Amino acid sequence: MIGRFAPSTTGEAHPGTLLSALLVWLDARARGGRALLRLEDLDPTRAKEAWAAQMIDALAWLGLAWDGVVVQSGRTAAHAAALDALAAAGRLYPCACSRGDRAASGRRAPDGGWAYDNTCRGRPLPASGWRASEEPLRAQLDDDRVELVDLGGLDLSQTPAREMGDPVVRRRDGAIAYQLAVVVDDAAAGVTDVVRGRDIAPSTGTQVLLQRALGLPRVAYRHHLLLLGAERGDKLAKLHGSIPWSGVRARYTGPALCGWLAAAVGLAASPAPCAPADLIASFAWSRVATEDLVVRYLDESGLAC
Ligand code: GLU
Repeated sequence: MIGRFAPSTTGEAHPGTLLSALLVWLDARARGGRALLRLEDLDPTRAKEAWAAQMIDALAWLGLAWDGVVVQSGRTAAHAAALDALAAAGRLYPCACSRGDRAASGRRAPDGGWAYDNTCRGRPLPASGWRASEEPLRAQLDDDRVELVDLGGLDLSQTPAREMGDPVVRRRDGAIAYQLAVVVDDAAAGVTDVVRGRDIAPSTGTQVLLQRALGLPRVAYRHHLLLLGAERGDKLAKLHGSIPWSGVRARYTGPALCGWLAAAVGLAASPAPCAPADLIASFAWSRVATEDLVVRYLDESGLAC
């Protein structure tokens, strides 16, 4: 069994990211498997080396050690080979449709964005190949329905080509898009089990079809609860930015935050400081809360939910 934690290094670590890391790590350790860390830094407009360095520090501070670390921007050759394979299979096509064009479809996708109507399917790549394209590239998915219930019982069955639309796999700026990189890199690392936040669950069907198109093995999925922050307008959002690790670290030690997270999701009876390794023996997904938790950061008393 090989699991992985794959944070995007596009902002400060926060309690939600650290909870995800803890759950991935515990799932692997409790099953005698390996736990890998992959830093997802492909978005040139949002990823920063400083965030990647901070993520490594924050994970070590929490007490998590990894069996291997991959930096996604170092995987260019594998990503290009996947695009070659999609082009050879006749699945790759250019598409410059804007968000406005997609909104005109009037169909909401399961991830909350606009579904893409596959309008540009059949458009040819430049004669000299996909590398010469100045437009974003999409991958044509099979039109099949994917029947999929994840290990936590979440029904992710979907017809991705219709409900989401063919995914962008290479952006206009040349960056490899998340949906492609994630399946290529998971397969290359031999990942068998993907554990991640529920916010990404709607992408799973698309990823299963990309795996199939590339002849990659299917993996097991589990999507866990999210920690939500009450932000402007009381809209609940992932904790990005609202409770940054730099602030949490000023108040908590790593073991104190580990104990707090464990108690918040049901893995410990009290928030007494502990090391992640102390939680392995009694770890079971049946003990982990399934409802998202709203978390606040109070100056006088620290984290509260
Ligand atoms: N990099 C993605 C994120 O931080 C997660 C990728 C995944 O787990 O599949 O939201």
